[in-house]
Amino acid sequence: MHSFVNEWADEFSQINDAIQDKASESMKSIKANQMRMSTVFRGNNINDKKLAELMSWDFDILDTKIEQLIVHAFTIFDTWCTSDATPTETPAANPDMTGVEDNVLKSLAINKKKMKNFIGATHSNYHNDNPYHNFKHAYSVLTAVGIFLQNGVDAYCTQVDTLALLMASLTHDIGHPGMNNDFFVKKKHELAIRYNDAAVLENMHAALTFEILRMPENNFLCGWNQKDEQYRQFRKHAVAVILATDMKIHFELTSQLQGLKNKELDANSAQEKDLILSSTVHAADLSNPVLPTKIYWCWAYRVVLEFHKQANEEKRLGLPYAPFMEPHPDNEMELAKLQIGFIQFVVEPFWGTFGALFPRLYNFHYSKVHILRISTDAIFVLRYDRVEMLKLNLEIWKTKKAELDKIKEQKDAEEQAALENA
Ligand SMILES: [Zn+2]
Repeated sequence: MHSFVNEWADEFSQINDAIQDKASESMKSIKANQMRMSTVFRGNNINDKKLAELMSWDFDILDTKIEQLIVHAFTIFDTWCTSDATPTETPAANPDMTGVEDNVLKSLAINKKKMKNFIGATHSNYHNDNPYHNFKHAYSVLTAVGIFLQNGVDAYCTQVDTLALLMASLTHDIGHPGMNNDFFVKKKHELAIRYNDAAVLENMHAALTFEILRMPENNFLCGWNQKDEQYRQFRKHAVAVILATDMKIHFELTSQLQGLKNKELDANSAQEKDLILSSTVHAADLSNPVLPTKIYWCWAYRVVLEFHKQANEEKRLGLPYAPFMEPHPDNEMELAKLQIGFIQFVVEPFWGTFGALFPRLYNFHYSKVHILRISTDAIFVLRYDRVEMLKLNLEIWKTKKAELDKIKEQKDAEEQAALENA
């Protein structure tokens, strides 16, 4: 476990510690796609077997190249948005689409080339030097949403809703500066002023998403009539689910979701649908602790490192900081405590309810047995569904904490004995 942790610590210590004002940068200039898409996509065809591997909880995103993830992201969009549906406007009816019929996802009249550009531009507008809030995190949320759609959430979605969910999951943190809402409010930053201190970053992510989408080279909806009900629905759901990733409304969302537990689900209820769509992206955003332990551990390290950098910056600026954000993730005791609290009070109540609403998800078993070496003296063999995996990860953190407590107790006792003998 330690080798990769040390590698990252080195990697991130090389990043200039003077925090650039990434948020202002995202507000003022939208970056053009910095990838040459024809090169990215060349020779990267994905067959059904490969797709099944991608749509799996144990696919190691952190160990995969960005170019590959961009191709995978497009494949997920392509797969979900090509089934039967009647387009409101045929591709040929729009001048932008003429001559590119082969390059169009016909069912929704989506321009494939522009969709690839959009995904490339999305990548370019993430701050990929953030330890956590970068394109790889976005891709992990996209995959989780894809898996939810395969396991019951699709009952709530038209094809337009599906497209909105997939796009929003990929862009839900776009432009994230690596500092949370609280930082911008405390700093009285121009971003907080613009959004009146409410869901500051989430508002920025949603606005930036549509600013990138409306650029002619990225506008994969150029075949749609933008005054249409179809576009209105698409935009409404995409904006709503991005705003619902604000942790400030997490507990409200959890209690609303728990309200659905003992009633028959009704996919025709607009209110219920809005709740399920928002909960889907939020559950995906909170899905690290349901992943195989080693992958989860890597994400946990990264997010805590990002917190640590923020707390350091707040100290430097003389701003108040949250004590839980201060420890460096190399402090294993603090890392374990933080994750135990996160699972017990945040993730488990939400995921437990979400998993129970979609039994196929709840009973989603691994197709193979995983053997993990958590530490030098512990090997685990796993065959669990997601909620079981969550419980197992919690137990692993608790075991780790108990081990560290014991070591500390022994050390304290030795120090005490040395003092008494002195
Ligand atoms: Zn996120």
